[in-house]
Amino acid sequence: MAPSSDCLFCRIMAGEISAKVVHQDEQVVAFEDINPQAPRHTLICPRKHMATLNDIGAGDEQLIGHAVRVASMLARRQGDAEAGYRLVANCQAGAGQSVFHVHIHLLGGRPFSWPPG
Ligand code: AMP
Ligand code: ZN
Repeated sequence: MAPSSDCLFCRIMAGEISAKVVHQDEQVVAFEDINPQAPRHTLICPRKHMATLNDIGAGDEQLIGHAVRVASMLARRQGDAEAGYRLVANCQAGAGQSVFHVHIHLLGGRPFSWPPG
């Protein structure tokens, strides 16, 4: 899918809406969540517009793997690798998805309970 002018995260990645970007490369952009749920809360977004995890295809495996690796790299850079951190990807409104462009939440800096809410 092409970048969408209706998509908040496509617009952030196009530089049309400002965000605090902490990493970018040819495949993904990572920026701080505007409403952090932990002391460190970063969103890792593939540049490719995919609305939900349901839209990930066989050809996207490398991209999604890269996004997870970037998340782990950022967690290490932030100093959370040893204490622990959480990756979350919400799929559909029923699971809490509010922005329909695939993204991984990286949460760090506090304990995380299980099961999640
Ligand atoms: P989700 O609810 O899983 O779709 O996650 C969307 C996330 O995007 C939420 O945690 C929001 O706080 C965050 N968010 C919404 N608008 C912005 C924005 N303009 N810049 C950064 N993060 C945002
Ligand atoms: Zn998008």
